[in-house]
Amino acid sequence: MKIGQILIFIISILIAITYYFIIKNYPELMPTYIQNLQKYFFSNPETPKQQPEYDIIIVGAGLAGLTSAYEANLISNGKLKILLLEQEKKYGGNSIKASSGINILNSPIQEKENIKDSYNLFYNDTIRSGKGKSIPQLVSTLVNDSHDIFNYYTNLGIDLSHVGLLGGHSAARTHRPEKVAVGYHLDSSMFNVVKDIKNIKYQVNSTVIELIYDKDKNEVNGVVYYDSFNKKNVKIYSKCVILTCGGFGHDFESDSLLKEFVPHLMNFPTTNGPQSKGIGMKIARKIGVQLVDMDQVQVHPTAFVNLKNRYEKNKILAAELIRGVGGILINQKGMRFSNELGTRDYVTKRILDNCEKNSNSPIDQYEAFIIINQKCVDIYGPNVYYYINLELLKKYNNFKEFANTFNIPYDKLSETIIKYNKNENGKEDEFGKKVFPMKFDLNEVIYAGIITPSIHYTMGGIKMNNNTEIYNINGQVIKGLFGAGEVTGGVHGGNRLGGNSLLECAVYGRKSAQSAYNLIKKLN
Ligand SMILES: Cc1cc2nc3c(=O)[nH]c(=O)nc-3n(C[C@H](O)[C@H](O)[C@H](O)COP(=O)(O)OP(=O)(O)OC[C@H]3O[C@@H](n4cnc5c(N)ncnc54)[C@H](O)[C@@H]3O)c2cc1C
Repeated sequence: MKIGQILIFIISILIAITYYFIIKNYPELMPTYIQNLQKYFFSNPETPKQQPEYDIIIVGAGLAGLTSAYEANLISNGKLKILLLEQEKKYGGNSIKASSGINILNSPIQEKENIKDSYNLFYNDTIRSGKGKSIPQLVSTLVNDSHDIFNYYTNLGIDLSHVGLLGGHSAARTHRPEKVAVGYHLDSSMFNVVKDIKNIKYQVNSTVIELIYDKDKNEVNGVVYYDSFNKKNVKIYSKCVILTCGGFGHDFESDSLLKEFVPHLMNFPTTNGPQSKGIGMKIARKIGVQLVDMDQVQVHPTAFVNLKNRYEKNKILAAELIRGVGGILINQKGMRFSNELGTRDYVTKRILDNCEKNSNSPIDQYEAFIIINQKCVDIYGPNVYYYINLELLKKYNNFKEFANTFNIPYDKLSETIIKYNKNENGKEDEFGKKVFPMKFDLNEVIYAGIITPSIHYTMGGIKMNNNTEIYNINGQVIKGLFGAGEVTGGVHGGNRLGGNSLLECAVYGRKSAQSAYNLIKKLN
């Protein structure tokens, strides 16, 4: 054989090997006719498709993910093999930051405190707050199923023994523990339960970057995740995937969803943790999932401005409860400008319209003051010392000292307080406020801080139905894909009521597990 022939022979072998490698591993890179040939020659109808290693993969270990994992194990009597993937080094997400509470209807605590509440009141509050954008069936399930959540969590040793009234609610229904912050308590308690369940594998440093999707069957079969510890991508198959990976309230990346849908908010501060980058929505969108209400982003009226680092973009939330126990809002002129118990979007708008934007700030920071007294502190309970210890709420001996510190005209401020004290419960003041939890004495000790509206919650997300099944852009349910929590859209419409997000994680976290289990039973 001549040398030329040998070379051609070797090159042919190399080309064949390369082609075979690409066809096997990256068939989508080949022209369609080669893909068809490949199916004809290489696929054996007897050979099963890639065997799923897990029954369910859950993406994201916030409250929705932890609840979903727990429920899946519970209802299947430990028969399911579950993988819970978390991109960070630790579980938690935004859930762990929640500080006001979780809404529950007709709980034993409401009963004990003789609080009159009903399905209609709660449903209507949620629909009204959502400004006609919420999907009524999703709200109905949220409210109906909320009742069971009290026993569900308290049976696991979780304390929800205190109840309070938040803005936009017609009844006190927002439950919290006595001594610790609600989000931390729920997340850490659920994690402690989940970590001991042997069928649930919990894995951190694992960012899901792709859904494995069979377009022909409109079916999700697993995920690809980036293992940030070993620095490699891993492909893993499952019968179902549940997305519980939160919202996009901290998405300032180059492919930012905030920039795409609400560019006017890009320069606002945020209360969200850096994990909230909307990866769930982004990977779902790549396989044709329908997104809803993506331009509906909640700006919380009260995030603390930390005077030690005044212009930082990440802010600590001043929980709604501060206003719930009687806190009032004052502007630089010493005047009230809102019903402090109005909905979040209303109070935010009042701040933007009536308070000054800090001209020294590189971010869009509109500043107002929040004020409480010692009685408010006592009603709030030990958690309020978190803010006091960080000096986000600072102690002043009286209103005059506070006014002098911030150059607020004291005559105007004292006039405002005297007028406010004349209000009576049940009678509307000039801003429509009807409930006045606290009166103030100009000479008493007060605690005050600066607050500013900040990006807080993304109402939009992947479109789901009551069973947490996810729709594609053609309105078809995608088999094997479910979602729960902030990654989904449709529950809160144009504005989320405080306390409804943790409830959504609980109700739909459970539902996602039930739906996944039902599907798996059918497959087996
Ligand atoms: C400061 C603050 C206070 C709040 N207070 C309240 C309150 O009192 N009551 C209330 O009802 N709501 C409150 N909320 C809202 C509520 O906490 C959250 O909206 C809700 O808990 C979201 O839960 P989740 O499980 O859907 O997402 P998260 O808790 O955010 O969890 C999502 C998890 O998914 C992980 N993840 C994301 N992408 C990936 C990926 N690609 N691969 C793997 N993992 C991924 C994240 O790291 C994160 O751990 C508050 C929010 C904030 C920011």
